[in-house]
Formats: sequence, C-alpha cells, structure tokens
Amino acid sequence: MRTAVLLVGDELLAGVVADRNGAAIARALAARGAPVDRVEMVGDERDSIAARVRSLAARHDLLVVAGGLGPTEDDVTGEAIALACGGELPADAASVDNPVGSAAGLRLRCEGCDLWVLPGVPAEVDGMLPAVLAGLPEADAGLVRERVVATAGIPEVRLAERVVAAGFAPPPGVRLSYLPAPGSVRLRLAAPAGVPPADLDAAAARLREIAGVAALPAESLAASLVAVLAEAGRTLATAESCTGGLIGGRMTDVPGASSVYLGGVIAYADRAKVERLGVDPALLQRHGAVSEETALSMARGCRERFGADLAAAVTGVAGPGGGTPVNPVGTVWIALADAAGAAAEVFRFGGPRELVRERTVNKTLEMAYRRLREGPA
Ligand code: ATP
Ligand code: MG
Repeated sequence: MRTAVLLVGDELLAGVVADRNGAAIARALAARGAPVDRVEMVGDERDSIAARVRSLAARHDLLVVAGGLGPTEDDVTGEAIALACGGELPADAASVDNPVGSAAGLRLRCEGCDLWVLPGVPAEVDGMLPAVLAGLPEADAGLVRERVVATAGIPEVRLAERVVAAGFAPPPGVRLSYLPAPGSVRLRLAAPAGVPPADLDAAAARLREIAGVAALPAESLAASLVAVLAEAGRTLATAESCTGGLIGGRMTDVPGASSVYLGGVIAYADRAKVERLGVDPALLQRHGAVSEETALSMARGCRERFGADLAAAVTGVAGPGGGTPVNPVGTVWIALADAAGAAAEVFRFGGPRELVRERTVNKTLEMAYRRLREGPA
C-alpha cells in the first residue's frame, strides 16, 4: 500500500508555523501498517494544490490532505479538490465527522486513490485520524515494528564507533537509525512485519549492552529519571534560573511524575534567588549569580524548602548577551543536593540561546538520573 500526505498552507512554507500534522499522520499510519512514503507541502493556491493532489493520487493508494478546508477566503483546498477530482465537489464525497471543530472533512475516490481531506488545525487532525485509520484495510503486511534504545552522555559518533566495533548488524530487513538530540541520542530499530518480534528484542538488547551505562531505562531522560526516582522511593525538586522552568516542564511531561516530582522555583532575578531559595545576598554579591557558590546554595535551599530528597539547581548565561570574560555565553553551573551533600559542575555549552537551554535541561536530567543510579561520584 502506497501512502502520501499533502500539507496545505502558505504559513508552513514560510516557516511561520512548524508542521505538526505531517508527523502525527505519518506516525499513526505507520503504526497501522501503512507507512507513508511521501510528505509534501504546498501553499494556499488552488491550481498548485489541485496539481499536487492529482499527481499524488495517481501514484498512491491512500492520500491524506490537511489544511485550507475552512470557510474563509484563504482556504481553497475544497475548490482544488473539486478541480483535481472532477465536478463541483465530487458527488460521491462522504463527509467526515470532526469531533473537535466545526469544519467537517471529506473522503472520496480520486484517480483510484482513497483520498481524505482534513482541516489544518492539529487538534482537529488528531481528532479525525481514528476515522482515517478505521477506513484502512485490515492489513498487517506493511506493519512496521520498532524498538527504541535511548542513551545519554555519549556523542553520536562515539556511539556509532562502539556499535561498529562490536560488530553489530541489525537482523535482515531491519533498519538502524541514530536520532540525536542535544545530550541524548536514540537508536531506533524499524522492522517490516516479517521480522519476528523476538529478533527485534534481541537486537535492542544487544544495542543496550553495547551502549553500556549510557543506555537509559526509558525512552526519554525525564522518563528515566522518574523511573529511578520511583524505584528508589525518592523525591525531586528543581530551582531554575537560565532554563526558566523547562526542567520542571520536562518532568511534568511524564505521566505519573507527581509521585516523585514535588515542584520547582523559577528564580530568575537575584531577588527571587534570595527570597524563594534563601540564597545569601552577600554570597550573591561576592560570587555573582552564575557561580558554583550560588548554584550550590540554590540547590540546598530548594531541597530544604521543598523537603525533597534530591534537588537540582541551574544558573548560567544562555546568551546572546550577558557574557563576561569569566562567564562567557554558554557558561552554566548545575548543582545537585541530597542527604549526602551538594556538588556542582560547570559547563560551557556552545550554540544559540535555545540550544544552551536545551543542553542545560538534558544535562541536569542526566546528572540527577546518574546520581540516583550510581550514587554520588
Ligand atoms: P479553519 O476552518 O480553522 O480555517 P482550515 O482547514 O482552513 O481550518 P488552515 O486554515 O489551513 O485550516 O489552518 C488552521 C490553523 O491550523 C492555522 O493556524 C494553521 O497555521 C494551523 N495549521 C495548519 N496546518 C498545520 C500543520 N501542518 N501544522 C501545524 N499547524 C497547522
Ligand atoms: Mg483556515
């Protein structure tokens, strides 16, 4: 079965809105045995949409179009479909219920292709995907199974060297891909239906072995941290300056985190560090906000105020401004405090503000994870 997705919207091509529908549709279809082999984007222009629909429909068995289906003048997908597939919206088009919004979707046959037309709002696409999936033939033939081994603290190239040095080869038909993020790389094994799940499990277990201590027990750093906290019966609290709550956000992304994550303080200004975390103003004055002393004091204060077993604190210069000779942009202190004491480490993360913050979040989660897993260094 050949499957394609066509995303409609000038704002997508202009980069003003980051696409969310392509990934959601592709993931859902792959999980149901209809992996997508092409995703395209086109602007809000009737004739170009019609041309892409005609061409994609001719080469695929299933085509999902999303966007530009609303009633406003900039929405021309309906007209384009009529143009591409013949007639004033083709007579045999069925309306598809929209449980989330008002604009209904359409399903019709076009060039022998099963064509679904959905609105563009991501929540509405999510709401209508079950109908698309229910319309698929009961085919297990193309079903892609996957296993993901997440790692942290090892660069992608180093990991790849180890995998090669260990002589790892995926089972026939299985594809191994490296999915790097700042501070964390995921290894993904994807297999067509013919591959026995046990072979996939064995390959994933071998990758875990090769990654060694870098391998994480769950699919993300935060989920791994939640898992080890739960296992140890410990609680965590956070004190964040330059990450502004991103670490807390990541912790609370994990379902069930409430049993181990108590909460956090965004202590961005010096005054907040003093009032919310009990950092001594004289210490701040003497060493500055971005310093080992301040990071340690934030972690200790946080641990005490939350009554947590473990506290993590970060303070740094995310940039682009604010760098000094002592603390250039990218300098970040990360401190952990637990019953055994407190320790801090300094990092010089490169890259723009967003990347410095992302690296800080991941490094903090990793340090907390390792502290629980391996005990204080
Ligand atoms: P409406 O009836 O609400 O106008 P529509 O079908 O006309 O829905 P669009 O006008 O294309 O959809 O988009 C509606 C909103 O959804 C816009 O804010 C748009 O930026 C957003 N959107 C559309 N496509 C995507 C996408 N692929 N990823 C993320 N957001 C999207
Ligand atoms: Mg619209």
